Amino acid sequence: MELLKQRIREEGHVLGDKVLKVDSFLNHQIDPVLMMEVGEEFARRFADAGVTKILTIESSGIAAAMTAALKMDVKVVFARKKKSALMNEEVYMTKVHSFTKNETNEVTVLKKFLGANEKVLIIDDFLANGEAAMGLAHLVEQAGSEVVGIGIVIEKAFQDGGKRLRQHGFKVESLARIAAFTDGQVQFVEECVQA
Ligand code: 5GP
Repeated sequence: MELLKQRIREEGHVLGDKVLKVDSFLNHQIDPVLMMEVGEEFARRFADAGVTKILTIESSGIAAAMTAALKMDVKVVFARKKKSALMNEEVYMTKVHSFTKNETNEVTVLKKFLGANEKVLIIDDFLANGEAAMGLAHLVEQAGSEVVGIGIVIEKAFQDGGKRLRQHGFKVESLARIAAFTDGQVQFVEECVQA
């Protein structure tokens, strides 16, 4: 998605050799116009998947999941990373190790919002090692539903997550795929293929 790649080039900050900060449009401040385009692109790429529900994880997946859900006319559920006193009902739970925070969270979804026989599209902001997406897929499996696709805004293709999810048989669509961070600059997969 060219517009997204352009924004990453212009506003992204590379931290160390593995982390990209895009807090001006995705991870802190949110650009709703760009997120609408992101949602439309997900809706286009998963148009034939028969999606009945979108599942994401708080907090940075919510914006993209929300606009995709709007376009696909389905509800969006976000898994919670911290237990809330308000979640005093039955939940599905799985453990997810956070790449950026280096901590393991018990991620939960209320059973009443993730029923059986749903066709679930998982959406997240970043794909690194695939922990978050695999955890969400595990919640879907517990519910007796099916993962029909995984939509990622930014995939860091130099990490193992994409390979892991695709080898598992999931259809993964990433709107921007990063091949490497070279001297603090983002190199997209297509640029490496052309080089
Ligand atoms: P994974 O679970 O695939 O290892 O990592 C994906 C999760 O970690 C995403 O939910 C995202 O919040 C966070 N994450 C991983 N890499 C990055 C990154 O480079 N930048 C930002 N902002 N978040 C990341």
